[in-house]
This record gives sequence, structure tokens and C-alpha cells, in this order.
Amino acid sequence: MPEQQLILVINAGSSSIKFSLFEQGSTDPTLLYKGQVEGIYTEPHFSAKDAADTKLADEALPASQPKSHDSALRHILAWLREHTAGRTLAVIGHRVVHGGRRFSHPERVTPEVIAELELLVPLAPLHEPHNITPIRILAELLPEVPQVVCFDTAFHTTQPDVNQLYALPHQLSEAEGIRRYGFHGLSYEYIASVLPGIDTRAAEGRTVVAHLGNGSSMAALDRCRSIASTMGFTALEGLPMGTRSGSIDAGVVLHFLNHLKLDAKAIEDLLYKQSGLLGLSGLSSDMRELRGSDDEHARFAIDYFVSKIAREGASLATALQGFDALVFTAGIGENDVLTRRDVCRQLRWLGVELDEAANAGRSSAPRRVSLPESRVSVYVIPTNEELMIARHALHCLAH
Ligand code: AMP
Repeated sequence: MPEQQLILVINAGSSSIKFSLFEQGSTDPTLLYKGQVEGIYTEPHFSAKDAADTKLADEALPASQPKSHDSALRHILAWLREHTAGRTLAVIGHRVVHGGRRFSHPERVTPEVIAELELLVPLAPLHEPHNITPIRILAELLPEVPQVVCFDTAFHTTQPDVNQLYALPHQLSEAEGIRRYGFHGLSYEYIASVLPGIDTRAAEGRTVVAHLGNGSSMAALDRCRSIASTMGFTALEGLPMGTRSGSIDAGVVLHFLNHLKLDAKAIEDLLYKQSGLLGLSGLSSDMRELRGSDDEHARFAIDYFVSKIAREGASLATALQGFDALVFTAGIGENDVLTRRDVCRQLRWLGVELDEAANAGRSSAPRRVSLPESRVSVYVIPTNEELMIARHALHCLAH
């Protein structure tokens, strides 16, 4: 029997590199291992699990190794080599946060593609450089293995201009690319890929998807294509998140600059790292911790989050001119029963009728949690961005 192809998926950030190794299955890639190196520039730590979530490694990287993305990647590759009996990789897929206007689909990496990715760094200075670094390193370490880049923005390029543009002078969107790109596209694309097998009415109709995790956003899918989303030029717009403010009057930023005399770095830090659930609660960015607290600020932070999700849901339903289904996904969307319950209560007037018993149940499989008579069907569907990248990587390899 021919050996199944191995697909490595890399999701690199400023201080961590996450990986997933898949094997081409009969229909879809099958997960073999996943893991990460965290704390690359502080205390690098490697962990790995198999597909059943059994821990296979949990160790500090040797202190003799330099603290760099390069060392972290070498460590991951050495571990994978040991655990795949030296089998060669067929392809490596990368998550890249920003594809700008240039990339509306995944692409195979070439020197020209890397040069074009570099041009996009100003659009996502906090993320894009860290996404590009492993591509360069792997091109040197494994030059014979094709690499594919998959973008968090690409799925949203189908949105009409009315949902992509800001009300700014036109040349800013054309010449400077100041427009709403939207993010979490690989997550929405995964949901759109499984929706037809779960509910044809939703797949052929108008569905609002709420990706609620550390980063949170929502998207409106018309026949499984994105037509609007809450995130914009950066991943700061829209819902409040773990530590990000979400939408804020741009005048507040001017006030920070002109009157509080905060510099750009301080404002960036405030809006990206000290706001959202953390800022409102003064306690934590983590939903589980907020749920565990009886502090009134923690409760307010959650109520605020829920209120914005419901409001954005209604806004996206208006963009869709209808509302057939609501899907919850990502860490909070998949696991936090009360967020789902309270969002659905606030959207009841739009025809959302939750089945509270079904909502309180637990399962890792996609499931319906609305009452049979609910006009809007509500689902919990676990997302799988890594699988989406693995699928894209294989597809690019074959075409
Ligand atoms: P993500 O970024 O998708 O990994 O989601 C992280 C968020 O999901 C954090 O706020 C977690 O507290 C939250 N989360 C994960 N598991 C649970 C759970 N069982 N109940 C409530 N929130 C959860």
C-alpha cells in the first residue's frame, strides 16, 4: 500500500509556534500530532499530544539552544522526525493573518510570494512578520518540501464594497488599502465547508457565525459566502475580546494622542492588551476565570460581551436581509453554555428559540441547540482551522 502523505500545518506567532501534523486520509486529512513551542524568547517550552489528546511531550527546550524561532522550529522538526519514523513531508501549510487585496486564495510559496507577503507587513505589523519567519526558515531547512500560505482574510474577499469600505476618501482604500478585510476567515471557511452536511437550509440560506475565543468576531454567510464581518482593517474592530477593545470611537484615539499624550506604542498596548474582558473586569481575559468569579466587574464584562454579540448578530442579519441560522464556535462559543444562552435570549425577538437542555449538553460533535419550532436554527460547531489549512495545502499541491 502506498504511504499516505504527511501534511505539516504551522501557525506561528510572536512568542509561539503551533504545529499540527496530518496524514492524508481517504477523504479528509487525519490528525496525527499537535503541539507547540511557547515562550520562544523567554522560557521556551515544547509540548505535543496525539490525536486522542494524550500528552507525548512536555519539556523545556535545552538551555544551550538559542532562543529563536529557528531553534523552536528545529526542535519541532526533530521531534516529528522521531515520531514519523523519518517519513518525508509532502507539504507544509502556513496560517498567515493578512493576505491584503493581493491574496484571495491560498498559494504555493515562491520567492515572489514571500516578497509580496513582506509588502503586507504594514497592514499587520504585530502578526505578519512572525507568520513569514517560519516560511523563510523552512525554505532553508527543507527546500524540497513545498509550502502553501493560507490567509485569515481570504474568505472575506467576497464581501460587497459597502461592507468592505470605510467612509473615508476613496483614494485611501484604493492606494493605501485602508479597508475592512475581516479575519478568522479559515475558521469561517471551515464552518462553511461542514454546514451543507449539517443543515442544507442554513448552507443555502443566511447564517450568522459567532467565532468567540480569545479573539472574537462574527461573520454573515450568504449561501456559505462571507458578505459581512465584524473585524475590519485590523483584528481590533468589532466585538470586545479577551484583551482587545473591539470597536471604539476613533475620536477616543485622537483624545489619547492629543490630550493624554499617549504615544502610538502605549495606545497600541492599551487597545490590544489591556482592554476587552480584561479591561472591563480588571481581573482576567479568560472566560472560565470570569465565570468562576462573583465580582461585579467580572459579571459586567460578560454582560457587555454578550450584549455586543447580540447587537452585532442583529446587524449581520440585517446585512443578510434574513436570518436562518446562528452558529457558535471557538473556545467560548463551543464551551460556554451561558454566553450562548444569553445571546440567544437577546435575539429571541428575531426568531431565535434556544433549547436550553440541548444547549447545556456537552459534545465535541456539531449539534443543534435550538427548539424544533425555532425560526432560526442554532448550532454549536467546533471549528478546525488547522484542518482547513491542511486541506488547502494538499489542494495546492495537486493543482
Ligand atoms: P480560543 O481562543 O478559541 O482558544 O478560546 C479561548 C477562550 O475560550 C477563553 O476565554 C477560555 O476561557 C474560553 N473557554 C475555553 N473552555 C471554556 C469552558 N469550558 N467554559 C467557558 N469558557 C471556555
